[in-house]
Amino acid sequence: SRAKVFDKESNINVNFLDVAGLAEAKQELEEIVSFLKRPEKYTNLGGKIPKGALLVGPPGTGKTLLAKAVAGEANVPFFSMSGSDFVEMFVGVGASRVRDLFKKAKEKAPCIVFIDEIDAIGRARGKSPSMGANDERENTLNQLLTEMDGFGTNSGVIILAATNRADILDRALMRAGRFDRQIHVELPDINERKQIFEVHLRPLKLSEEVKSEFLAKQTPGFSGADIANVCNEAALIAARGDKTIVEKEDFLSAVDRIVGGLEKKNKIIS
Ligand code: ATP
Repeated sequence: SRAKVFDKESNINVNFLDVAGLAEAKQELEEIVSFLKRPEKYTNLGGKIPKGALLVGPPGTGKTLLAKAVAGEANVPFFSMSGSDFVEMFVGVGASRVRDLFKKAKEKAPCIVFIDEIDAIGRARGKSPSMGANDERENTLNQLLTEMDGFGTNSGVIILAATNRADILDRALMRAGRFDRQIHVELPDINERKQIFEVHLRPLKLSEEVKSEFLAKQTPGFSGADIANVCNEAALIAARGDKTIVEKEDFLSAVDRIVGGLEKKNKIIS
């Protein structure tokens, strides 16, 4: 139902410890946490707090997780919506949803507004043939730009948006006073994969032979989401075999499954 999809507000108990690797992104976001916690530290000196930052990177690399961790660290409410939810919307609904979301956010400031898949509404305007759905998308984008310009710099609302296609975004979104910061979130390297495994192995009952270092070596090209999937899948495979602990072979089967899935996805794309 719509109520579930749109302008969800929640209090988050995710923090930076739940996000493995991504040291640079976390460091940049620390500053936003600090803005939210102690705005006067900046405004007393005449500084203007940025309105938003754009998280850019491939799917499953932890962009949503990072945005939630910012809210969790600052202990502020988290409002979220997904750009793709506007794609099939009736005329006028998208813009009014954006308006409602910002109205609620301003009432609850300081807070985070997170817009996932912003490219679905934020694609460069006027480049595709004008159809009903496209006009609606433009209205939604225009409303978003209006909202971003409308509230004061130091309103306490910080907007984080995520995309894996920064190249197709309307330049107007990146203008000063809007998403003027870009934070890159890349696929993890072997060391980061090890750390991500450690986060997701924590809740499992493991055989002693299961080592994060070994698993990191087996999973080049995997995203954080793929790694979370491997861990869960391994536990399910072990359970199916009526085991009381998850063993190395269960992880290897899980890796094979995910690799199979990734290959299929790539075939469809290419
Ligand atoms: P998408 O672009 O597909 O929306 P995303 O970049 O927003 O993806 P998330 O939704 O944040 O990715 O990641 C999905 C899940 O993968 C997370 O909930 C978490 O379980 C796991 N994950 C991803 N990256 C990390 C990480 N760096 N550390 C720990 N877990 C991670």
